[in-house]
Amino acid sequence: MLTNRSKVVVQKKMTFWERIYLPAILSGISITIKHFFKKGATVRYPETKREISEVWRGQHVLKRDEKGAERCTACGLCAVACPAEAITMVAAERKKGEEKLYREEKYASTYEINMLRCIFCGLCEEACPKEAIFLTDRIVSTDYARDGFIYGKDKLVEEVDERIDVSKRQTPSVLEFKKHKQFSHNK
Ligand code: SF4
Ligand code: SF4
Repeated sequence: MLTNRSKVVVQKKMTFWERIYLPAILSGISITIKHFFKKGATVRYPETKREISEVWRGQHVLKRDEKGAERCTACGLCAVACPAEAITMVAAERKKGEEKLYREEKYASTYEINMLRCIFCGLCEEACPKEAIFLTDRIVSTDYARDGFIYGKDKLVEEVDERIDVSKRQTPSVLEFKKHKQFSHNK
């Protein structure tokens, strides 16, 4: 015996009440009844939605600027910062006449997030120098196939006429900084 922590097991004889099992059964039933009248910890989703924080980290959005051009410049910083290696992208060069579509000379022709890998840590949002990616209060929907969890630009880029408000995810100091139009970042 290496640890010297042995325990002698004694086969104790059961008492009369233990042998008829009735007290144990009644105690089990009483616990069940008690829980039956308690408020459940679960909600009937999707009919009922649980209250979530204002800064809940849910499905990402790729933002457009005020004129509707995509903000992402395919710099790859979000992918490097991602601890789950959930982000992949392909960079492309903006052509003449595409200035309204893409804010910078380089843009992401493909941008994908694997929602099965993502741990919703928000590091991609923090790493982005272009305020292009934010996490939102939207919940990633369920799917039967793994492919359905690879979110491309069709699901990530916000619609021009249906913008997603992310102001709650920006600190007061960031919002203050954004007021200064002399910084190229804010132009
Ligand atoms: S939220 Fe975290 S895990 Fe998800 S894509 Fe962004 S950095 Fe990666
Ligand atoms: S989302 Fe931001 S960090 Fe990621 S590639 Fe685009 S500009 Fe760079």
